[in-house]
Amino acid sequence: MKPSILDFTEDELGTMFPPRFRAKQIYNWIYRRYVDTFDDMANIPKKLRNELSEKLVISPLKIVQKESSSDGSIKYLFELHDKHTIEAVLLKMKEAVYDENGKLLHHPKYTVCVSSQVGCKVGCAFCLTAKGGFIRNLSPAEIVGQILEIKKDNDIDSNRRVNIVYMGMGEPLDNLDNLAKAVRILSSESGLSISPKRQTVSTSGISSKIKKLGAMDLGVQLAISLHAVDDKLREELIPMNKAYNIASIIDAVKEFPVDTRKRVMFEYLVIKDVNDDIESAKKLIKLLEGIKAKVNLIYFNPYPGTNFERPEPEKMENFQQYLIDRGLLCTIRESKGLDISAACGQLREQTIDNDIELNKS
Ligand code: SAH
Ligand code: SF4
Repeated sequence: MKPSILDFTEDELGTMFPPRFRAKQIYNWIYRRYVDTFDDMANIPKKLRNELSEKLVISPLKIVQKESSSDGSIKYLFELHDKHTIEAVLLKMKEAVYDENGKLLHHPKYTVCVSSQVGCKVGCAFCLTAKGGFIRNLSPAEIVGQILEIKKDNDIDSNRRVNIVYMGMGEPLDNLDNLAKAVRILSSESGLSISPKRQTVSTSGISSKIKKLGAMDLGVQLAISLHAVDDKLREELIPMNKAYNIASIIDAVKEFPVDTRKRVMFEYLVIKDVNDDIESAKKLIKLLEGIKAKVNLIYFNPYPGTNFERPEPEKMENFQQYLIDRGLLCTIRESKGLDISAACGQLREQTIDNDIELNKS
Protein backbone atom coordinates (compact mmCIF):
# COMPACT_ATOMS: atom_id res chain seq x y z
CA MET A 1 0.00 0.00 0.00
CA LYS A 2 1.52 3.32 -1.08
CA PRO A 3 1.41 6.20 1.43
CA SER A 4 -0.86 9.16 0.68
CA ILE A 5 0.61 12.52 -0.22
CA LEU A 6 -1.90 14.08 2.22
CA ASP A 7 0.30 12.71 5.03
CA PHE A 8 3.02 15.28 4.41
CA THR A 9 3.46 18.91 5.35
CA GLU A 10 4.59 21.31 2.66
CA ASP A 11 7.98 21.39 4.33
CA GLU A 12 8.35 17.62 4.25
CA LEU A 13 7.38 17.48 0.58
CA GLY A 14 9.95 20.18 -0.12
CA THR A 15 12.67 17.97 1.37
CA MET A 16 11.43 14.81 -0.31
CA PHE A 17 11.06 16.30 -3.79
CA PRO A 18 13.44 19.24 -4.24
CA PRO A 19 13.56 22.03 -5.31
CA ARG A 20 11.41 23.30 -2.46
CA PHE A 21 9.09 25.54 -4.51
CA ARG A 22 7.62 22.41 -6.10
CA ALA A 23 5.95 21.55 -2.79
CA LYS A 24 3.92 24.76 -2.96
CA GLN A 25 2.86 23.95 -6.53
CA ILE A 26 1.90 20.41 -5.56
CA TYR A 27 -0.09 21.68 -2.56
CA ASN A 28 -1.89 24.07 -4.89
CA TRP A 29 -2.88 21.33 -7.30
CA ILE A 30 -4.16 19.05 -4.57
CA TYR A 31 -5.89 21.42 -2.17
CA ARG A 32 -6.90 24.32 -4.40
CA ARG A 33 -7.44 22.81 -7.82
CA TYR A 34 -8.67 19.47 -6.56
CA VAL A 35 -6.81 17.25 -9.07
CA ASP A 36 -7.35 13.50 -8.82
CA THR A 37 -4.10 12.37 -10.45
CA PHE A 38 -0.48 13.47 -10.39
CA ASP A 39 -0.60 13.55 -14.18
CA ASP A 40 -2.98 16.52 -14.07
CA MET A 41 -0.29 18.66 -12.42
CA ALA A 42 0.55 20.55 -15.59
CA ASN A 43 3.44 22.70 -14.33
CA ILE A 44 5.23 19.80 -12.64
CA PRO A 45 7.92 18.16 -14.82
CA LYS A 46 6.92 14.79 -16.24
CA LYS A 47 9.79 13.04 -14.44
CA LEU A 48 8.62 14.27 -11.03
CA ARG A 49 4.98 13.46 -11.85
CA ASN A 50 6.06 9.88 -12.62
CA GLU A 51 8.08 9.67 -9.44
CA LEU A 52 5.14 10.94 -7.39
CA SER A 53 2.76 8.37 -8.89
CA GLU A 54 5.23 5.58 -8.33
CA LYS A 55 5.66 6.41 -4.67
CA LEU A 56 2.37 7.92 -3.52
CA VAL A 57 -1.39 8.01 -3.93
CA ILE A 58 -3.46 11.18 -3.55
CA SER A 59 -6.55 10.18 -1.57
CA PRO A 60 -6.37 7.53 1.19
CA LEU A 61 -10.14 7.08 1.38
CA LYS A 62 -13.19 6.78 -0.81
CA ILE A 63 -16.83 7.71 -0.37
CA VAL A 64 -18.97 4.58 -0.06
CA GLN A 65 -22.20 6.05 1.19
CA LYS A 66 -23.86 9.43 1.43
CA GLU A 67 -27.06 10.53 3.17
CA SER A 68 -28.62 13.95 2.85
CA SER A 69 -30.77 15.46 5.53
CA SER A 70 -33.68 17.85 5.01
CA ASP A 71 -31.69 20.64 6.72
CA GLY A 72 -28.93 20.45 4.11
CA SER A 73 -26.37 18.44 6.07
CA ILE A 74 -24.76 15.49 4.36
CA LYS A 75 -23.34 12.51 6.13
CA TYR A 76 -20.50 10.57 4.52
CA LEU A 77 -19.26 7.07 5.07
CA PHE A 78 -15.66 6.64 3.91
CA GLU A 79 -13.83 3.39 3.30
CA LEU A 80 -10.15 3.22 4.22
CA HIS A 81 -7.49 1.09 2.50
CA ASP A 82 -8.01 -1.73 5.01
CA LYS A 83 -11.79 -1.71 4.42
CA HIS A 84 -12.61 -0.13 7.76
CA THR A 85 -15.14 2.68 7.59
CA ILE A 86 -15.41 6.08 9.24
CA GLU A 87 -17.91 8.90 9.15
CA ALA A 88 -17.82 12.62 8.57
CA VAL A 89 -20.66 15.13 8.26
CA LEU A 90 -20.94 18.33 6.26
CA LEU A 91 -23.10 20.75 8.22
CA LYS A 92 -24.61 23.77 6.56
CA MET A 93 -24.60 26.36 9.33
CA LYS A 94 -26.04 29.21 7.26
CA GLU A 95 -27.85 29.11 3.93
CA ALA A 96 -26.65 31.13 0.94
CA VAL A 97 -28.40 34.51 0.58
CA TYR A 98 -29.42 35.83 -2.88
CA ASP A 99 -30.86 39.21 -3.91
CA GLU A 100 -34.06 39.51 -5.97
CA ASN A 101 -32.10 39.08 -9.21
CA GLY A 102 -30.60 35.83 -8.05
CA LYS A 103 -27.20 37.37 -7.33
CA LEU A 104 -25.32 35.68 -4.52
CA LEU A 105 -24.97 38.03 -1.54
CA HIS A 106 -23.63 35.69 1.12
CA HIS A 107 -22.03 32.32 0.67
CA PRO A 108 -23.31 29.46 2.79
CA LYS A 109 -21.29 28.66 5.92
CA TYR A 110 -20.06 25.15 6.36
CA THR A 111 -18.67 23.10 9.20
CA VAL A 112 -17.19 19.66 8.67
CA CYS A 113 -17.34 17.17 11.53
CA VAL A 114 -14.51 14.67 11.15
CA SER A 115 -13.41 11.40 12.74
CA SER A 116 -10.02 10.89 14.36
CA GLN A 117 -10.02 7.12 14.99
CA VAL A 118 -11.74 3.94 13.82
CA GLY A 119 -13.72 3.18 16.97
CA CYS A 120 -12.74 4.56 20.37
CA LYS A 121 -11.10 3.33 23.57
CA VAL A 122 -12.94 5.59 25.98
CA GLY A 123 -16.14 3.55 26.10
CA CYS A 124 -18.77 6.14 27.00
CA ALA A 125 -22.06 4.52 28.00
CA PHE A 126 -24.18 6.70 25.71
CA CYS A 127 -22.03 6.55 22.57
CA LEU A 128 -22.56 4.25 19.64
CA THR A 129 -18.96 4.51 18.44
CA ALA A 130 -17.86 3.02 21.78
CA LYS A 131 -19.88 -0.14 21.21
CA GLY A 132 -17.57 -1.46 18.50
CA GLY A 133 -14.45 -0.95 20.64
CA PHE A 134 -11.23 0.54 19.35
CA ILE A 135 -9.72 -0.52 16.02
CA ARG A 136 -7.00 1.96 15.10
CA ASN A 137 -5.85 5.54 14.87
CA LEU A 138 -6.38 7.51 11.68
CA SER A 139 -3.30 8.77 9.87
CA PRO A 140 -2.93 12.52 9.23
CA ALA A 141 -3.87 11.83 5.58
CA GLU A 142 -7.07 10.06 6.60
CA ILE A 143 -8.07 13.05 8.74
CA VAL A 144 -7.14 15.65 6.09
CA GLY A 145 -8.74 13.49 3.34
CA GLN A 146 -12.19 13.69 4.92
CA ILE A 147 -12.28 17.46 4.53
CA LEU A 148 -10.71 17.48 1.08
CA GLU A 149 -13.10 14.86 -0.31
CA ILE A 150 -16.14 16.62 1.15
CA LYS A 151 -15.11 20.00 -0.30
CA LYS A 152 -14.53 18.35 -3.67
CA ASP A 153 -17.77 16.38 -3.62
CA ASN A 154 -19.80 19.52 -2.96
CA ASP A 155 -17.88 21.77 -5.34
CA ILE A 156 -17.09 24.07 -2.44
CA ASP A 157 -14.77 26.61 -3.94
CA SER A 158 -11.20 26.22 -2.75
CA ASN A 159 -11.09 29.69 -1.17
CA ARG A 160 -14.30 29.11 0.76
CA ARG A 161 -12.98 28.20 4.15
CA VAL A 162 -14.89 25.73 6.22
CA ASN A 163 -14.79 25.22 9.96
CA ILE A 164 -13.68 21.90 11.34
CA VAL A 165 -14.88 20.15 14.46
CA TYR A 166 -13.12 16.99 15.61
CA MET A 167 -16.38 15.55 16.91
CA GLY A 168 -16.78 12.50 14.72
CA MET A 169 -15.75 9.02 15.69
CA GLY A 170 -12.90 8.57 18.13
CA GLU A 171 -11.07 10.50 20.83
CA PRO A 172 -8.79 13.02 19.08
CA LEU A 173 -6.42 13.36 22.06
CA ASP A 174 -5.79 9.61 21.99
CA ASN A 175 -4.28 10.24 18.56
CA LEU A 176 -2.56 13.50 19.42
CA ASP A 177 0.48 13.38 17.13
CA ASN A 178 -1.53 12.59 13.99
CA LEU A 179 -4.16 15.13 14.99
CA ALA A 180 -1.54 17.86 15.45
CA LYS A 181 0.00 17.07 12.09
CA ALA A 182 -3.42 17.17 10.40
CA VAL A 183 -4.13 20.57 11.99
CA ARG A 184 -0.86 21.90 10.54
CA ILE A 185 -1.44 20.43 7.06
CA LEU A 186 -4.99 21.80 6.97
CA SER A 187 -3.82 25.27 7.95
CA SER A 188 -1.09 25.52 5.33
CA GLU A 189 -1.60 28.66 3.24
CA SER A 190 -0.73 26.95 -0.03
CA GLY A 191 -3.35 24.33 0.77
CA LEU A 192 -6.77 24.44 2.39
CA SER A 193 -5.69 27.37 4.55
CA ILE A 194 -8.01 26.55 7.44
CA SER A 195 -6.66 28.49 10.38
CA PRO A 196 -6.34 26.54 13.65
CA LYS A 197 -8.77 29.09 15.10
CA ARG A 198 -11.42 27.52 12.90
CA GLN A 199 -10.60 24.03 14.14
CA THR A 200 -12.20 22.75 17.35
CA VAL A 201 -10.88 19.69 19.14
CA SER A 202 -13.50 17.94 21.26
CA THR A 203 -12.30 15.67 24.02
CA SER A 204 -13.89 13.45 26.61
CA GLY A 205 -11.42 14.97 29.07
CA ILE A 206 -8.02 13.27 29.13
CA SER A 207 -6.53 15.93 31.40
CA SER A 208 -2.87 15.05 30.80
CA LYS A 209 -3.37 15.28 27.03
CA ILE A 210 -5.27 18.56 27.30
CA LYS A 211 -2.12 19.92 28.95
CA LYS A 212 0.01 18.45 26.19
CA LEU A 213 -2.20 19.93 23.49
CA GLY A 214 -2.02 23.28 25.27
CA ALA A 215 1.77 23.11 25.43
CA MET A 216 1.91 22.48 21.65
CA ASP A 217 0.27 25.90 21.24
CA LEU A 218 -1.32 24.98 17.92
CA GLY A 219 -3.97 27.68 18.29
CA VAL A 220 -6.94 25.31 18.07
CA GLN A 221 -10.19 25.78 19.96
CA LEU A 222 -11.02 23.40 22.78
CA ALA A 223 -14.31 21.67 23.53
CA ILE A 224 -14.77 19.52 26.62
CA SER A 225 -17.40 16.79 26.70
CA LEU A 226 -18.38 17.30 30.33
CA HIS A 227 -21.91 15.82 30.43
CA ALA A 228 -22.01 15.52 34.22
CA VAL A 229 -21.20 17.78 37.16
CA ASP A 230 -20.36 15.21 39.80
CA ASP A 231 -17.78 12.47 39.56
CA LYS A 232 -20.09 9.61 40.46
CA LEU A 233 -22.45 10.19 37.53
CA ARG A 234 -19.60 11.11 35.21
CA GLU A 235 -17.86 7.79 35.99
CA GLU A 236 -21.01 5.94 35.01
CA LEU A 237 -21.22 7.80 31.72
CA ILE A 238 -17.49 8.07 30.96
CA PRO A 239 -15.50 5.33 32.77
CA MET A 240 -12.24 7.21 32.17
CA ASN A 241 -13.42 9.78 34.72
CA LYS A 242 -11.93 7.47 37.37
CA ALA A 243 -8.47 8.33 36.09
CA TYR A 244 -9.21 11.92 35.06
CA ASN A 245 -11.84 13.40 37.33
CA ILE A 246 -13.74 16.63 36.87
CA ALA A 247 -11.35 18.68 39.03
CA SER A 248 -8.35 17.56 36.96
CA ILE A 249 -10.13 18.55 33.74
CA ILE A 250 -11.00 21.99 35.09
CA ASP A 251 -7.35 22.47 36.14
CA ALA A 252 -6.12 21.51 32.67
CA VAL A 253 -8.62 23.87 31.02
CA LYS A 254 -7.47 26.75 33.21
CA GLU A 255 -3.94 26.30 31.85
CA PHE A 256 -5.02 26.01 28.21
CA PRO A 257 -4.02 28.91 25.92
CA VAL A 258 -7.28 30.41 24.68
CA ASP A 259 -7.47 33.11 22.01
CA THR A 260 -8.49 36.37 23.72
CA ARG A 261 -11.70 36.58 21.72
CA LYS A 262 -12.67 32.95 22.19
CA ARG A 263 -14.07 30.70 24.89
CA VAL A 264 -13.66 27.08 25.86
CA MET A 265 -16.76 25.15 24.91
CA PHE A 266 -18.28 22.78 27.44
CA GLU A 267 -20.50 20.21 25.81
CA TYR A 268 -23.25 18.86 28.01
CA LEU A 269 -25.12 15.90 26.56
CA VAL A 270 -28.57 16.05 28.10
CA ILE A 271 -30.17 12.69 28.87
CA LYS A 272 -33.72 12.40 30.14
CA ASP A 273 -33.93 11.98 33.93
CA VAL A 274 -30.17 11.49 34.17
CA ASN A 275 -28.67 14.98 34.10
CA ASP A 276 -31.46 17.31 32.99
CA ASP A 277 -32.33 18.72 36.42
CA ILE A 278 -31.88 22.29 37.61
CA GLU A 279 -29.70 21.13 40.51
CA SER A 280 -27.10 20.05 37.86
CA ALA A 281 -27.37 23.43 36.14
CA LYS A 282 -26.63 25.08 39.47
CA LYS A 283 -23.52 22.94 40.03
CA LEU A 284 -22.41 23.59 36.47
CA ILE A 285 -22.33 27.33 37.09
CA LYS A 286 -20.22 26.82 40.19
CA LEU A 287 -17.84 24.51 38.35
CA LEU A 288 -17.23 26.96 35.51
CA GLU A 289 -16.63 29.97 37.73
CA GLY A 290 -13.55 31.88 36.61
CA ILE A 291 -13.36 30.18 33.18
CA LYS A 292 -14.14 31.94 29.90
CA ALA A 293 -16.65 29.29 28.98
CA LYS A 294 -19.66 28.69 26.80
CA VAL A 295 -21.98 25.77 27.25
CA ASN A 296 -23.46 23.77 24.43
CA LEU A 297 -26.40 21.60 25.43
CA ILE A 298 -26.81 18.56 23.18
CA TYR A 299 -29.96 16.50 22.88
CA PHE A 300 -29.17 12.83 23.44
CA ASN A 301 -29.75 11.16 20.08
CA PRO A 302 -31.24 7.69 20.70
CA TYR A 303 -30.36 4.59 18.71
CA PRO A 304 -31.67 1.01 18.82
CA GLY A 305 -30.55 -0.84 21.92
CA THR A 306 -29.89 2.14 24.21
CA ASN A 307 -31.73 2.64 27.50
CA PHE A 308 -31.08 6.37 27.49
CA GLU A 309 -33.74 8.74 26.23
CA ARG A 310 -33.96 12.13 24.59
CA PRO A 311 -34.87 14.87 27.09
CA GLU A 312 -38.10 16.88 26.89
CA PRO A 313 -37.56 20.16 25.02
CA GLU A 314 -39.06 22.02 27.95
CA LYS A 315 -36.45 20.61 30.37
CA MET A 316 -33.72 21.51 27.90
CA GLU A 317 -34.97 25.08 27.59
CA ASN A 318 -35.34 25.48 31.37
CA PHE A 319 -31.78 24.26 31.84
CA GLN A 320 -30.54 26.72 29.22
CA GLN A 321 -32.54 29.63 30.65
CA TYR A 322 -31.22 28.94 34.15
CA LEU A 323 -27.64 29.28 32.89
CA ILE A 324 -28.33 32.33 30.73
CA ASP A 325 -30.11 34.12 33.59
CA ARG A 326 -26.94 33.72 35.64
CA GLY A 327 -24.70 35.11 32.94
CA LEU A 328 -23.38 31.96 31.30
CA LEU A 329 -23.37 31.77 27.50
CA CYS A 330 -25.39 28.75 26.55
CA THR A 331 -26.69 27.38 23.26
CA ILE A 332 -28.68 24.29 22.43
CA ARG A 333 -27.13 22.28 19.64
CA GLU A 334 -29.65 22.21 16.86
CA SER A 335 -30.33 18.64 16.01
CA LYS A 336 -28.86 19.10 12.58
CA GLY A 337 -29.21 16.07 10.43
CA LEU A 338 -31.31 14.27 13.01
CA ASP A 339 -33.18 12.48 10.26
CA ILE A 340 -29.89 11.04 9.05
CA SER A 341 -28.83 10.11 12.58
CA ALA A 342 -26.01 12.62 12.54
CA ALA A 343 -24.50 11.79 15.92
CA CYS A 344 -21.34 10.27 14.62
CA GLY A 345 -21.06 6.51 14.67
CA GLN A 346 -24.68 6.04 13.72
CA LEU A 347 -24.41 5.72 9.95
CA ARG A 348 -21.52 3.31 10.23
CA GLU A 349 -23.44 1.19 12.70
CA GLN A 350 -26.41 1.01 10.35
CA THR A 351 -24.29 -0.30 7.51
CA ILE A 352 -22.48 -2.78 9.71
CA ASP A 353 -25.90 -4.05 10.88
CA ASN A 354 -27.06 -4.26 7.28
CA ASP A 355 -23.95 -6.24 6.38
CA ILE A 356 -24.64 -8.66 9.19
CA GLU A 357 -28.21 -9.03 7.97
CA LEU A 358 -26.98 -9.64 4.44
CA ASN A 359 -24.47 -12.24 5.59
CA LYS A 360 -27.17 -14.05 7.48
CA SER A 361 -29.41 -14.49 4.45
N1 SAH B 1 -14.38 11.71 21.60
C1 SAH B 1 -14.62 13.10 21.57
C2 SAH B 1 -15.12 13.59 20.22
C3 SAH B 1 -16.09 12.71 19.51
S1 SAH B 1 -17.67 12.51 20.27
C4 SAH B 1 -15.56 13.50 22.67
O1 SAH B 1 -16.14 12.64 23.32
O2 SAH B 1 -15.68 14.71 22.88
C5 SAH B 1 -18.40 14.07 19.85
C6 SAH B 1 -19.62 14.43 20.68
O3 SAH B 1 -20.73 13.57 20.35
C7 SAH B 1 -19.39 14.28 22.17
O4 SAH B 1 -19.72 15.47 22.86
C8 SAH B 1 -20.31 13.15 22.52
O5 SAH B 1 -20.71 13.24 23.83
C9 SAH B 1 -21.43 13.30 21.53
N2 SAH B 1 -22.26 12.10 21.43
C10 SAH B 1 -21.91 10.81 21.55
N3 SAH B 1 -22.99 10.00 21.46
C11 SAH B 1 -24.07 10.81 21.29
C12 SAH B 1 -25.47 10.57 21.12
N4 SAH B 1 -25.98 9.35 21.12
N5 SAH B 1 -26.28 11.66 20.99
C13 SAH B 1 -25.76 12.91 20.96
N6 SAH B 1 -24.47 13.20 21.10
C14 SAH B 1 -23.61 12.16 21.27
FE1 SF4 C 1 -15.18 8.00 22.38
FE2 SF4 C 1 -16.25 10.49 22.33
FE3 SF4 C 1 -17.79 8.29 21.94
FE4 SF4 C 1 -16.81 8.78 24.34
S1 SF4 C 1 -18.26 10.08 23.20
S2 SF4 C 1 -16.79 6.78 23.31
S3 SF4 C 1 -14.82 9.63 23.86
S4 SF4 C 1 -16.15 9.02 20.63
